[in-house]
Amino acid sequence: MWWQNAVNKLKGIGPKKAALLKSLQIDTIGDLLSYYPRPDAYIDLTHIRTLDKLQAEAGPQLCQGTVFGLRKGRSRRIDYLAATIKDATGYACLYFFGAARFQAAKLQRGDRLLVLGRAKRGSNMMLIAPEQWQLLGEDEAAVPGIEPVYPLTAGLSQRELRRWLKEALALACENLPETLPKELLQELSLLARAEALRNIHFPQNFSLLAAAKKRLAFEEAFLLQWGLAKHRAKASEGQPVAHRAAPRFVPCLLKSFPFQLTPGQRKAWEEIVADMEAERPMRRILQGDVGSGKTAVSALALAKAVENGYQGCLMAPTEILARQHYATLQSYFEPLGVETGLLLGGLRPKERQELLSRLKAGSLSILVGTHALLEDDVRFKRLSLVVCDEQHRFGVEQRAKLLAKADHLPDVLITTATPIPRTLALTLYGDLDISLMRGLPPGRKGVTTLCYPVSKRPDVYAGLVRQLRQGRQAYVVCPLIEEGENEVRSAQEVYRELKENYLGDLPSALLHGRLPAAEKEAVMAAFVKGDVKVLVSTTVIEVGVNVPNATLMIIENAEHFGLAQLHQLRGRVGRGSEQSFCALITGSEDAAALQRLGVLKSTADGFALAEQDLKMRGAGQFFGQKQHGLPDLRLLNLASDGELIASAREAVKKYESSLKETDLFALALDSHWASSFASIFKT
Ligand code: ADP
Ligand code: MG
Repeated sequence: MWWQNAVNKLKGIGPKKAALLKSLQIDTIGDLLSYYPRPDAYIDLTHIRTLDKLQAEAGPQLCQGTVFGLRKGRSRRIDYLAATIKDATGYACLYFFGAARFQAAKLQRGDRLLVLGRAKRGSNMMLIAPEQWQLLGEDEAAVPGIEPVYPLTAGLSQRELRRWLKEALALACENLPETLPKELLQELSLLARAEALRNIHFPQNFSLLAAAKKRLAFEEAFLLQWGLAKHRAKASEGQPVAHRAAPRFVPCLLKSFPFQLTPGQRKAWEEIVADMEAERPMRRILQGDVGSGKTAVSALALAKAVENGYQGCLMAPTEILARQHYATLQSYFEPLGVETGLLLGGLRPKERQELLSRLKAGSLSILVGTHALLEDDVRFKRLSLVVCDEQHRFGVEQRAKLLAKADHLPDVLITTATPIPRTLALTLYGDLDISLMRGLPPGRKGVTTLCYPVSKRPDVYAGLVRQLRQGRQAYVVCPLIEEGENEVRSAQEVYRELKENYLGDLPSALLHGRLPAAEKEAVMAAFVKGDVKVLVSTTVIEVGVNVPNATLMIIENAEHFGLAQLHQLRGRVGRGSEQSFCALITGSEDAAALQRLGVLKSTADGFALAEQDLKMRGAGQFFGQKQHGLPDLRLLNLASDGELIASAREAVKKYESSLKETDLFALALDSHWASSFASIFKT
């Protein structure tokens, strides 16, 4: 395809310019075409004013005129060049300072100029501070239109970029395959692709510019959803299981729970039942706030698989979590005579062999484990349900590997406590159905959140010691591991300070991401057991860890964390019957930061917080750098384009079958985008 050609195929681009373009990630002609102008910087050349119509103290305006007089001067010790211009209606004077003065030095009487600038009333004519100007040819009148302004790097000019883009657009006008079905363009009144491309670079007017942006943003959403749909279709090749045997373990389990399901749990369970009984495989993500009771719902799904004569497995991201789930599931299933097993990396060969042979024989119905489940010798007799806990730690590939262990297509249930706003979920998990469990089980005391300035830190630490002396446990979370040059508190520093000045004989431990995995697990295990009373850590504390005796969470430099993350951390406490506290310590006096923390004090709904966070910090920040695994989005805004994404999703459903033969990713102009898509969806 012509757009995959290197950008130096265009006139005027030699090795030097090509290198500069490369620094802007422009390698191919297609990359250049998808290098969009700065969204708010288009220059409005649609209204050229005559000099008598210039307005003082207004925004930048456009005018043209002939140079009539030139004069050098000095005002308040600053040199300037003044050029008087005239047109049929009157005069104006342009003042050039600084670097502009040198560029203007070549001006001569009689030159014709097009000028964009702000005007000020002078004693007998308007004074203009030119922001941009250009020489016009002898009889050239400025062509009304809208000029793009590109983000640049030193050595490249707007003029060059505009020229190259015009050349590239000429190619696009000749031959640019459409990515969207014709009927869809009509249905949604979207511009054709080439027209949209032309109008985002050189808009004929502002309404066409808006239409161009919409069309191209829609295209991004459409391609994303199409990739997900394709991925889903591929992942569902095979014979699914319809779980329709008479209920047996499920009712028993429901009766044995020491609680009633919450309305949120009941709704999610109904959706799962419908999926599991259907002829198609379940692909569902169960989102629920920390402590909302996802494990009980997962257990019900496992019970349903087992009463149908199949096996189920639950994969957790860490050994601690796997152990915790195993203990819970064992207590549920042992009374029912259903065998459960736990597979961890460090099992002794004999134990492991014994476990695996029971699995293969089918006498073991439910297997819980870590990544160890993925190994080749782990073979099930009749696997029909895969539950992944805290899935954002597992890649699409790993899921696929687990699925391949079944003869037929197993159902998949993914649970996550990361409150992902709906727009983002639709994009990230477009290949999954979503169950949202709002609300917590009744009877929780909740967590009281308080905000403290740095000066109150000693009081907070004293409160910590009081809680510990009452037999409770606590977490202290810091943004950094080691001391840095700034004001931010590090885990090591806090750990040392607490040990030396506050804790006395109370056992504490330090936990951070640089510890070897085994050591991390050991520290966590000691805390779960109660041998360690205070855990000083970075944000590595496990998302799903359940230590009901922990009642205090102290967060240092709270302003450094996102709301969703703070909420996650806060969810580590408030899991028992005692009142719990979350103390946010902040050195910030920034009003916006304090307001953000204030939101946390007043809301306990993780999903509402996540929506807020996404709005305030944007999608990239929301997930941390690139963690969301999406290609860079040029125009699509995950936080605000929810409707667009939803309609793209609908459109893909509608047109999926007619697009079967087309490879839409191959039509993407942007080479980086195309390749990151290919890698995301390769499984
Ligand atoms: P999470 O959604 O964070 O995984 P868990 O499944 O670990 O939450 O549940 C947290 C606690 O709430 C567990 O102790 C569990 O027994 C309890 N629980 C779950 N469902 C209910 C319910 N409907 N009513 C009361 N307690 C419940
Ligand atoms: Mg959980």
